[in-house]
Amino acid sequence: MTTFCVLYPDLLGTYGDGGNGLAVTQRARRRGLDVELVSVGLNDEVPDAALYLLGGGEDGPQRLAADLLRKSSFVSRVRDGATVVAVCAGLQILGSTFCVEGDDEYEGLGLVDVVTSRGERRSVGELATRVEGQLLVGFENHGGRTTLHGGLDALGIVVKGRGNDGKLDGYRTKNIWATYAHGPVLAMNPWFCDEILAAVFEVELEPLASVADLLYHERCRVLSA
Ligand code: GLN
Repeated sequence: MTTFCVLYPDLLGTYGDGGNGLAVTQRARRRGLDVELVSVGLNDEVPDAALYLLGGGEDGPQRLAADLLRKSSFVSRVRDGATVVAVCAGLQILGSTFCVEGDDEYEGLGLVDVVTSRGERRSVGELATRVEGQLLVGFENHGGRTTLHGGLDALGIVVKGRGNDGKLDGYRTKNIWATYAHGPVLAMNPWFCDEILAAVFEVELEPLASVADLLYHERCRVLSA
């Protein structure tokens, strides 16, 4: 049995990103992969998991989530190679510092060389990013502007919306995928969901026809019209 873990949906669930856990679990089970989905609440220990999912949240809860994660086994588990999909507040928390509640700088988990400062205005609306020939679609709603350092790769190039800075969205390491896209992003982008599954299980997956694929292609068609 492989464990997928949604971290603190009470704090990082404002934008519906808990749906990422449901989408990735469902697509795994439809491939016959044996997966359990657990949610970590405020007073729970972080369990050993193959995949951790971090969602978006408001400034105060984001800060609390960072404090809880710093004291947990999460950082060492990720350093040991556990896979992470992080969205928006989650993306910011994994970095060196982020700004919350005005311009106050707050320490992140330091897993990636990423700094998030405050933008002049919030980025709200549709977000589309080109990721190696595929389009990643979703929506964004954040005040942060994110800068990547130390040669860290972005997840993709922004086609619509702002993402990190108007040019790039998210970042990518060996075992971390991060984006500003809510949706939930794994439900809206079946190819992306399968990329994560293939990485976690180290297998090549057969395509899987689903309503999500039809909706994804329709979204891409509208975006490129
Ligand atoms: N609080 C963060 C910001 O506004 C993250 C928001 C989010 O997760 N959507 O930048």
